[in-house]
Amino acid sequence: MKRNVSLEEISDGRLYGGNDMVKADCHGCEGCHACCTGMGNSVILDPYDAYRFQQGLGKGISQLFAEGMLELNVVDGIILPNLKMSGKGGRCAFLNEEGRCGIHESRPGLCRLFPLGRYYEDGEFKYFL
Ligand code: SF4
Ligand code: SF4
Repeated sequence: MKRNVSLEEISDGRLYGGNDMVKADCHGCEGCHACCTGMGNSVILDPYDAYRFQQGLGKGISQLFAEGMLELNVVDGIILPNLKMSGKGGRCAFLNEEGRCGIHESRPGLCRLFPLGRYYEDGEFKYFL
């Protein structure tokens, strides 16, 4: 999806290709949950995410909609599901009381990609940190 932010605003401004080496760990994750808060409707789900939810949580995507964990939004003219961020600071519905992902084993692909993002241009993409 398109986000109206500049690359410099959310990264070091560098783009990486498939053959580039980059140090991209999260320092063991200190649990600040900044990556699970305030993401708006940007954590879009794909069919494999729905499969992961079904397998890992034992819940179909319809049930997760009914429980208020997901929502639908129009992205580039297409209606797509995404993780619902709500409450103070826009917390992911799956964030637990300890500020950790409550579905870590079954989390969506975009969450697995973090701290990398994809930058699409001219029919191809590169990664940014
Ligand atoms: S991975 Fe997320 S929760 Fe962990 S330290 Fe980084 S921003 Fe915070
Ligand atoms: S599913 Fe887990 S990792 Fe992904 S945004 Fe929600 S709490 Fe964070």
